[in-house]
Amino acid sequence: MLRTIFSQSSRVITQSAFTGARALSASAVSRDKVLMVLYEAGEAAKEQRLLGCKENALGLRGWLESQGHTVVATSDKEGPNSEFEKHIEDAHVVITTPFHPGYVTADRIAKAKNLKLCITAGVGSDHVDLDAANTKNIGVYEVTGSNVTSVAEHVVMAILCLVRNFVPAHEMIKKGEWKVADVAKASFDVEGKVIGTVGCGRIGYRVLQRLQPFEPKELLYSDYQPISKELEDAVGVRHVSLEELVAKCDIITINAPLTPETRGLFNKELLAKCKKGVYIVNTARGAIVDTQALVDAVESGHVAGYAGDVWFPQPASRYHPWRIMPRHAMTPHVSGTTLDAQTRYANGVKDILTRYYAKEPQQPQNIICEGGAILSRAYSKTGKIETKVSDSGA
Ligand code: NAD
Repeated sequence: MLRTIFSQSSRVITQSAFTGARALSASAVSRDKVLMVLYEAGEAAKEQRLLGCKENALGLRGWLESQGHTVVATSDKEGPNSEFEKHIEDAHVVITTPFHPGYVTADRIAKAKNLKLCITAGVGSDHVDLDAANTKNIGVYEVTGSNVTSVAEHVVMAILCLVRNFVPAHEMIKKGEWKVADVAKASFDVEGKVIGTVGCGRIGYRVLQRLQPFEPKELLYSDYQPISKELEDAVGVRHVSLEELVAKCDIITINAPLTPETRGLFNKELLAKCKKGVYIVNTARGAIVDTQALVDAVESGHVAGYAGDVWFPQPASRYHPWRIMPRHAMTPHVSGTTLDAQTRYANGVKDILTRYYAKEPQQPQNIICEGGAILSRAYSKTGKIETKVSDSGA
């Protein structure tokens, strides 16, 4: 039986015979230790809408403490003596963001004797070792759809920055220079180009919707969950293999989760199969692209430019080679953490916690792992919760 559920972001998820949305048994209804790993904001934390920082603790500290829980919010997450390492041993719930991810590795899961719940304040749960979480029946949830529009807007911005050669033009102005030819010699229109997305879920589809008015020559996508013909026609996109996509595209945007299949997907071999002069925008995860292979491809000119906001690990080392490679438009991981998005993912985390403590089923679209299995089809081809994109989702 098919069931249609409208998600928080007006996206539609079609769920095939899904029976797994049962309530998790909350072993301790009160007095849980809730560990939040969030970026440090310092002075910026005075902006109360900056909910996703350690200081503002997603706006949930008072609410959780009023129910008897202990809240530990830290940005100190690396190494054996970090606060994260210390507190995960007896934490019941870990909440983190992809922007400053607390990596919930198999080693950490092994020593986390109380851990029942990992929540991503945002989208993308690759910072959790999902197989290890499943061995201990730890629920893994994210706030699906919470920042997909924010990211899609960033992708379009990044494409324009690369194709129009914006970054050198801007830097030139700040340096007091005026060399029109130096910018114009590598500046093109988006109109008339072939553009493809690897992954056509919530973000990928929104990127296509936003690119269609630029009148590209063709829009392509590769995904093992093809969207409906109706949705394809609505944006004028064609489903192709990854090989065809990379061979044909002038501009590639990567919008798939980081999984064993996508880790290192854009390696030396795949980059070599890309059209010469391709622009690549990756706001999905840094580890989908091989660090050195990309540097080599950009330096040789095979890749005309690279942009995005995702790195591995995060924060990126100050010596990360992508910081200094030619023709890039990289930023820190910010695309999905606009103030608008922060409100949505903070509310979403509260909804997940409310359901957990009330022993109510989670919203299916938010479930990555539950009952010892990966249920999200975006993370596993055998996952039960299928992802579909609705026309009304933009
Ligand atoms: P989604 O689940 O709606 O869509 C992901 C799509 O990728 C699915 O359709 C899935 O079938 C497809 N996919 C999975 N493996 C694939 C593969 N090997 N090849 C092609 N397609 C594949 O997720 P979304 O909301 O669109 O987000 C996508 C990813 O973007 C997230 O998993 C996350 O890593 C990243 N993200 C980044 C930010 C940011 O701030 N930079 C914010 C949100 C999400």
